[in-house]
Amino acid sequence: MPKIQMVDLQGQYRKIQREVDRSIKDVLKSAAFINGPKVKEFETNLANYLDVKHVIPCGNGTDALQISMMGLGLKPGDEVIVPAFTYVATVEVAALLGLNPVMVDVDKNTFNLTAEIVEQALNVHTRAIVPVHLFGQSTDMEPLMKIAEKYNLQIIEDNAQSIGTEYTFSDGTKKKTGNIGNVGCISFYPSKNLGAYGDAGAVTTQNDELADKIRRIASHGQSEKYHHKYIGVNSRLDAIQAAILDVKLKYLDKYVAARQVVADYYDKAFADIELLQTPERLPQSTHVFHQYTLIVKEGHRDALKSFLHEHGIPSMIYYPIPLTEQEAFKGRGRKVGDLPITKSLCASVLSLPIHTEMTDDQLEYIAETIQAYFDNA
Ligand SMILES: *Cc1c(COP(=O)(O)O)cnc(C)c1O
Repeated sequence: MPKIQMVDLQGQYRKIQREVDRSIKDVLKSAAFINGPKVKEFETNLANYLDVKHVIPCGNGTDALQISMMGLGLKPGDEVIVPAFTYVATVEVAALLGLNPVMVDVDKNTFNLTAEIVEQALNVHTRAIVPVHLFGQSTDMEPLMKIAEKYNLQIIEDNAQSIGTEYTFSDGTKKKTGNIGNVGCISFYPSKNLGAYGDAGAVTTQNDELADKIRRIASHGQSEKYHHKYIGVNSRLDAIQAAILDVKLKYLDKYVAARQVVADYYDKAFADIELLQTPERLPQSTHVFHQYTLIVKEGHRDALKSFLHEHGIPSMIYYPIPLTEQEAFKGRGRKVGDLPITKSLCASVLSLPIHTEMTDDQLEYIAETIQAYFDNA
């Protein structure tokens, strides 16, 4: 049995090595390292895949969030509602722009924002909401869109973990995550579902004007060369990463299907273990399982993690500390309640290995080991 890893990027690369190497070589020969045809090609293919009008490639997912907030014209002092249970990037960029990140609690089963939670956090300074589609499942967007309309708020979807996820509205309309709010932000960090071999990201939007502005902001705010209409940043997707991503995009559906097989296996294996809660599947959303995250009840999380480690099984805690309790963000923003769910999740979540190269032996071994822990618990 191959050694179990959280992700197996080497195994994944081996299967597409020839295609990827050829694509990289084409870029090396062309010497068009910045922008150029490869970046354009990937942009077009990704827009088709996501069924979105505009894809603006950029340096990474964090930049995607930042240039989206800049593009939407958010100003210092504006309040942006973000979940307290997520990766730091979302609040970090808001803080960097002088915005006031209001870190709120999340739903205890989906780990995502809900309309009720957001509504309780609104005030006259609220300008935007950042739903993070955590672990691969969409936030319940329809009620959130209603609030955004009612209070005239912008929605920036943090789609870093959920590329390709599909959300169904109550009238049957389906939209991919990132296409529902004003903008979507994608990360191609190597371990993400569509991972580059370095840093990369993209902004997606259906809005022509906003797309144009964001594209300029990503390129020093230039309208044409050496004419700077906005204060921008330098955030580019390099052509070598685009070449790799363009190859991997063709396999993304296959990769997602492989993750879903793992998730289904885990769901079944753990269904009867009372001290484990398997991931909630929202009927309105598909789940691309960037992570498979269990809730381990009654304080067993850390002991289970150690037990797995002793048996050669890695696991990770996404995320161990509420953003409100991070040193950099303590006392920042406006406090809304005590975030009991976020705190409880930080103490009880555990993410298991899930990736495109997992073998049946590995899954069986993980399931047996976890069962053995609870047989003796
Ligand atoms: C990965 C990630 C980001 C940041 O993406 P980078 O490409 O690493 O900058 C932002 N938000 C979430 C939820 C993420 O998982």
